[in-house]
Amino acid sequence: MNLFTETNLSPEILKAIGELGFESPTEIQKQTIPFISTDIRDLIALAQTGTGKTAAFSLPILDMIDEGSRKIQFLVLCPTRELCLQITKDIKNYSKYMQNIKTTAVYGGSSIMDQIRSLRDKPQIIVGTPGRVIDMINRKALDFSEVQWVVLDEADEMLSMGFKDDLETILSETPDTKQTYLFSATMNKEVERISKNYLTTPHRISVGSINEVKKNIKHEYYVVGYRHKKEALKRLIDANPNQYSILFCRTRMETQEVADFLMQNGYAADALHGDLSQAQRDTVMKKFRLKNIDILVATDVAARGLDVNSLTHVIHYSLPDDPEVFVHRSGRTGRAGKDGISMALIKPEEQRKLKQIKSSTKIDIQEKKIPTGEAIIKSQVAGVFEALFTVHEEFFTFDDALIPDLSEFSKEELVHKLLQLQLRDVAMFYKDKNDLADQKFNADDRGGDSRRDRDRGRDRDRGRDRDRGDRREFSRDGGRDRDRKPRRNSGDMVRFFFNLGKKDQLKKMDMLEIINKSTAKSKKRPDIGDIEILEKFSFFEVEKSFKDEVLRGMQSQKFKGKEMRAEIAG
Ligand code: AMP
Repeated sequence: MNLFTETNLSPEILKAIGELGFESPTEIQKQTIPFISTDIRDLIALAQTGTGKTAAFSLPILDMIDEGSRKIQFLVLCPTRELCLQITKDIKNYSKYMQNIKTTAVYGGSSIMDQIRSLRDKPQIIVGTPGRVIDMINRKALDFSEVQWVVLDEADEMLSMGFKDDLETILSETPDTKQTYLFSATMNKEVERISKNYLTTPHRISVGSINEVKKNIKHEYYVVGYRHKKEALKRLIDANPNQYSILFCRTRMETQEVADFLMQNGYAADALHGDLSQAQRDTVMKKFRLKNIDILVATDVAARGLDVNSLTHVIHYSLPDDPEVFVHRSGRTGRAGKDGISMALIKPEEQRKLKQIKSSTKIDIQEKKIPTGEAIIKSQVAGVFEALFTVHEEFFTFDDALIPDLSEFSKEELVHKLLQLQLRDVAMFYKDKNDLADQKFNADDRGGDSRRDRDRGRDRDRGRDRDRGDRREFSRDGGRDRDRKPRRNSGDMVRFFFNLGKKDQLKKMDMLEIINKSTAKSKKRPDIGDIEILEKFSFFEVEKSFKDEVLRGMQSQKFKGKEMRAEIAG
């Protein structure tokens, strides 16, 4: 099947996709279109965004949908509002010439009454996020009794966002005779479990970039201790000028912290994560699409709704646990025939995790040294010349009469002078600065431990920057550490038992985030001691005076939809 004309899709659909410039089916479309059109089995399709999966499931269903009926026949569930709107837009485009077909999006963060009113159109297709669909079911606004096809899109994300119970409730509202198609970028135990419970003898399809790694992406990794991580990041960004990139973090807190750090250091960066309101997320995405910001710091989930094809770099500020997520993240660059670079910052103790990623994905990830000041200046100079030949926009106009007599300079002298002016700040920043490339790592570099040493390192950096009057001081961390007391001994700490553990996908960073949230109302930040994440539960230590606040704060939070509980340990 090389052309859409060989698919037997209706002329209306062919006309619509022809106008969108679709000439031949993508790999996933080649497999799903004939399957959905002819087979009665359910389906598990492993495919990422960018593979053409929306058309892969919607074209054959549109081809079979009953235009004469005004009942809901086709339901798509997806994790985020952005994706919901994107899928709705795509389906509307594909069904442009099917005059009786109506598609309605239902998603949170927008008026439920307006959405209920829009159901008066009697759509045959609903695209929704699970929480809002449940709300509408509870208000008896949705009737799924005639649904024939259900698509669970980005199932892995929906499950990791804690929508498992909602999905089960929604599926129980649909008839047993329906066909269920599960699309997921990654396959994990949770996805397997839901497939087992809700799909009958599903056919499996896996395409492209899941295990097949794109060849046009260069993968690099940089080993750096915890206390130098942000400085290393700054160096990587400075050594790769003119970049347009997504920087992935693991938690919302880390995302905000890294974005703040970059903004305070003068970069056009911003954060995208689930703690932001919908309006804030929309603004950030718009700024990124318009290239008003060129570094987007995001969590994996928040970045999903963003379809940008011209990324030059992907930066893994923290490694994901799942190797497939690493491939998925990296695949955001190197699109549309362009080359891409994926750079990962690895803490010394993460070498094993990296090895696991390398062996399961078969990606050749090359170790590189954090660039020296000298190398950064070289890249910056090259970056200016690159921009000279590639940027053709005029950002402002000025009169040539403003150009004075420059005859005393040769062409080379003039270029030298302009470069000196242009790159002065960067050059001053790296002047006399110790390089990070050859640092030796030891236990003190591990995150979460040895805070005193970390502080000492920062104080040293701060002193050096202040001496030179450098305005690009790492002000945020510096400011916070100024008030930090040396680490307390264990007598000042209280040990808590916590009811969640590894089986609940709890990680150290999550625990830190939970403790910080619990004590967010306090002006002071508590000292946090050891955190032990065990299989079924965990332990953590927090400064004694925060005991009650932690116990109270935990009660109002949930982790991945689960109630959390802390108690004073034994
Ligand atoms: P998706 O994976 O559904 O997010 O689709 C990624 C992008 O590929 C979207 O912008 C689609 O419009 C586009 N696309 C999907 N199928 C095709 C095709 N057969 N030919 C060209 N572009 C396509």
